[in-house]
Amino acid sequence: MAVYNKEALWSETLVQLKAELGETEFNDWFVDSCYLKSEENRIIIGFPSAFHRDRVKKSYQNKIKAKLQELAGMEIVMEFEVSTKKNIEKISPPKKVNDFIPSETFKKNIIATEEKLKKEQHLQLRDDYTFEKYVIGENNNFAANAAIAISRNPGTNYNPFFIYGGVGLGKTHLMQAIGNYIHDNSEKKVIYVTSEDFLNEFMECIHGNKMNLFKNKFRRTNTLLIDDIQFFADKPGVQEELFHTFNAVLNAKNQIVFTCDRPPTELKKFEARLISRFDQGLKVDLQPPRYEVRFAILKATAENRGTPIPDEVIDLISKKISSNVRDLIGALSTLIAYTEVMGKQVTLEIAQQRLKDVLTSSKQSNLSIEMIQKVIANNFSISVNDLKGKKRNQNIVYPRQLAMHICREMTEYSSTEIGEAFGGKDHATVLYSLEKIRGRLAIDANLDFTIEALKRQIKDMATKM
Ligand code: ADP
Ligand code: MG
Repeated sequence: MAVYNKEALWSETLVQLKAELGETEFNDWFVDSCYLKSEENRIIIGFPSAFHRDRVKKSYQNKIKAKLQELAGMEIVMEFEVSTKKNIEKISPPKKVNDFIPSETFKKNIIATEEKLKKEQHLQLRDDYTFEKYVIGENNNFAANAAIAISRNPGTNYNPFFIYGGVGLGKTHLMQAIGNYIHDNSEKKVIYVTSEDFLNEFMECIHGNKMNLFKNKFRRTNTLLIDDIQFFADKPGVQEELFHTFNAVLNAKNQIVFTCDRPPTELKKFEARLISRFDQGLKVDLQPPRYEVRFAILKATAENRGTPIPDEVIDLISKKISSNVRDLIGALSTLIAYTEVMGKQVTLEIAQQRLKDVLTSSKQSNLSIEMIQKVIANNFSISVNDLKGKKRNQNIVYPRQLAMHICREMTEYSSTEIGEAFGGKDHATVLYSLEKIRGRLAIDANLDFTIEALKRQIKDMATKM
């Protein structure tokens, strides 16, 4: 049996992984990892962020495990931690100098981390809008991975990169994560502007006869991030300037990223040539996250802020707020503030009380069962009477069950009251329907989306009343 010093074992594992995965993939996930400590058959490895840690765990755990076992000739349990240079020192300092002989990889990682820490923060970018803090789920998976690819190789493949989606779904965060990554890992210049700032600066330069300054700034940058470009609608002057800026940046093989609240083709009052430019690169959309992702975002946010929030409270917020991430985090922030000010953990009761307004407004007090029935009937091309009736055809039973489920989620009505409103069905029938939908939710990944989309329509309708 081969007996290895665990640190050497890890170094060897890395060497072999690198050979198997290739330089690029290896660098993406392992170059910032570091050996932390080991005990008997356990080895603990640090990754620079929860994002890295989870990714490696998900994609490489089995491979690494097999490799460790092969090399050590015994089963090695691997643990993943989030650890940067700062807390490496805190974790079990070696008892004897000989216990801990840093390998070359390890030293290189430490130096790389220190280099990174030295770089100054970009003035226009928020330092917390990073990939590490961006939770990835199926709602933003493609967008996030494209963004990561672009930040590693800006100006090459996906140009322009066009991110679109509704309010509070993470467009600005993702865009700035690209900016932060490029700023931290290269010498390339990054400019981030909101469309409003771009317009104001443009107007000032025109009036002050300083268009040269404007052109030099925006046409010569390596990375141009312009946020919320729907703002340029019906503003032909700045659209024209944007068009030329765009061409200059693209011709110089520099990267452009736009965000927008809708896809390019739905932009109104935009020059056709601009729309076709937006359309020619890579377009990705962000969808509202489903429950599991909402939960993960809240969990990560609480962790990042260093404030423990009980899971049942996170569950409550994740269930009740589904429309956008900003509201979700807003509710959490209220509770984090409470915890900090009061110096004690929030309980489920306190959370319910503190968030009463938010929770009831997302339960939409002016929302009626009738309204929900209308929207569902409409979407499934059946009548409200069908929903309330007794027909047992599947094309009616399913929307009926769905409607009951949504009533239960969006209103405060009891299952008895819901039964009443569906043509006087009894309590047990309603419970059976709710169970059916729960069952389907567990196996059908798309159903959550369908339900969220229906809820949005219902809320829309409610706000127009
Ligand atoms: P948008 O620009 O689409 O309106 P933002 O990027 O401003 O949305 O996001 C709103 C808030 O939600 C920000 O605090 C952002 O950090 C957070 N957020 C959005 N998506 C995620 C995500 N996937 N993971 C973590 N935080 C997120
Ligand atoms: Mg934004």
